[in-house]
Amino acid sequence: MDFEDSVFFEISNDMVAVVGMDWVPVKLNSVWTKELGWNSDEIIQLSFKNLIHPDDYISTLEQIGVPHDGQVVRDVRNRYRCKNGSYKYLCWNYKIDLKNRLIYAVVKDITQQKIYDEIYKRANKVAKLGSWSVDLAEEKVHFSQELCDLFEIDPKDVSEVEDAMSILPPDARALIEEKYKNLKERGEEYDIETVLATSKGRLFPARIMGAALKENDIIITAFGIVQDISKVKETENILRYQQELLNGLFDSSPSIIYVKDLEGRYILASRQFEILMGKSKDEILGKTDFDLFAERDALRHVRNDHQIIRTKKAEKTEDAILLPDGSEKQYISEKFPLLDAQGNVIAMAGVSTDITELHRYQTELLKAKEEAELGTKAKSEFLANMSHEIRTPMNSIMGMAEVLLESPLDEDQRSYVTILSRASESLLGIINDILDFSKIESGQMVLEKVPFPLRETVRKSIELLLIKAQEKKLELRVDIDHDVPDTVTGDAKRLQQVLINLVGNGLKFTDSGSVLLNISLRRQAQPVLEFTVQDTGIGISEDKLATLFTRFYQGDSSITRRFGGTGLGLSISKELVEKMGGQITVESRPGQGSRFIFTIPLNP
Ligand code: ADP
Repeated sequence: MDFEDSVFFEISNDMVAVVGMDWVPVKLNSVWTKELGWNSDEIIQLSFKNLIHPDDYISTLEQIGVPHDGQVVRDVRNRYRCKNGSYKYLCWNYKIDLKNRLIYAVVKDITQQKIYDEIYKRANKVAKLGSWSVDLAEEKVHFSQELCDLFEIDPKDVSEVEDAMSILPPDARALIEEKYKNLKERGEEYDIETVLATSKGRLFPARIMGAALKENDIIITAFGIVQDISKVKETENILRYQQELLNGLFDSSPSIIYVKDLEGRYILASRQFEILMGKSKDEILGKTDFDLFAERDALRHVRNDHQIIRTKKAEKTEDAILLPDGSEKQYISEKFPLLDAQGNVIAMAGVSTDITELHRYQTELLKAKEEAELGTKAKSEFLANMSHEIRTPMNSIMGMAEVLLESPLDEDQRSYVTILSRASESLLGIINDILDFSKIESGQMVLEKVPFPLRETVRKSIELLLIKAQEKKLELRVDIDHDVPDTVTGDAKRLQQVLINLVGNGLKFTDSGSVLLNISLRRQAQPVLEFTVQDTGIGISEDKLATLFTRFYQGDSSITRRFGGTGLGLSISKELVEKMGGQITVESRPGQGSRFIFTIPLNP
């Protein structure tokens, strides 16, 4: 044959070449250039030897073997370098002509096929999937490499149907033999799940499919797949476990738990929901709020749901729900959207807790508190009125005692009237305290805000106490810093009251030494006057200090008995100081005297 004239060179879609025994082509058709990019001369110059991928060189030599004359070699696969630097998989079929030292070759580009094969292999590996086929005419079995891997066997070990069946565990074998028979005889395809075992005895759940290939209505090949579905089963188990756990949690919760789809249909409802509605899950699921609740409640729920879906934010609500039996229950609910991976709302979940009892308790408590407050206020008002009423006759008694004292009296009479006058005075003091306290309690205490001379006011207060100081032989001194302004705005009477109480207490609880009043100006953001009353008296124990300004409190009962008093003075002073916008504090140690400090803003 004269190859120069060979027409196959021109009509073939494959690469055709005549190559010398030294791998140098003698003649090439134009498909080579199309496939590899090189022109004929370039390939001849480079020779095939230099175009083979270096990694494929040895395997190529192995595939070629020792050439002998007339030998036809098929399916030699290797990679060749293209002009653009990439590689293509080629598959060679050739015949050797040793006499002329030539090789006649037809070469196919199998790059695409190689890629598909690789994808198929990898996909099967990932899916743990293998395929099988039986040529029914010859009863020969073929297992794919992947299937052999699944069974941990060598492909050579399976050629007869019996070989394949013998791998299967008894139960699976009985099932598959029957299915295979039906497939072979009647073309009944199957898709079953069973447990298989590898040759090493490892059990695995598997999905097995069988199908038939027909030609002219005669089944010629049975084929199918086997897939290891351990992962799927594992996931199914985890999901089932999670579902059971969730159901258990839902149903054991004392709260009502539910999930609604975007159309407002219940897709999940807890046991408490069933109890509340007196309906089974089947009667609740798929229903909307309008099917289950009174219209007023359904409307409110739906409006609320829409807001959650729109804002994607959880909501807390507290509302009353009308039940089928006509009763009402109070619920506190937390509703929240369920989002998919992209952040879209896919459902709406809620947890509602019955707070009917708590609510009733709270309402009753509030009512009781209001009633108690009203009662206390009424009592305080009564006290305020009563002490006011007592003051009028008291003043008459005191006035009359004064008048009596001025009239001619013998010694005894004078001393009786003096006692009467003193007792009345002290009674008036007590009544005044009760009046102030009640006024404060019932919110009737109103302070004046007018300018008054500070030094003058202080002097008048102290004058009233001087006699007492002299009686007890105590030093009573007042120091007013000169930067203290003389005119201040406020309620002079009430300031006097606080001073008399504190200085009076100082004198009362001091047996020897002094009581000092100091007034200074504290220049701060809001300037304040600071009043300090310091005595050298009996002092106050630490545990009593905390409750000192509490009303009715008197330091120590034995002391009280000795000194008398109502225990209202300090609490009234504290209220007054605070009403003036200031603060009162105390520092004291038993046996070392006490120091009371109070402040009053200069420009309240
Ligand atoms: P009372 O009218 O009983 O004096 P107060 O409220 O003025 O009521 O005082 C309450 C108690 O605080 C007094 O009974 C006393 O125990 C204690 N107390 C007040 N001032 C002093 C002080 N300067 N030194 C020691 N104890 C004091």
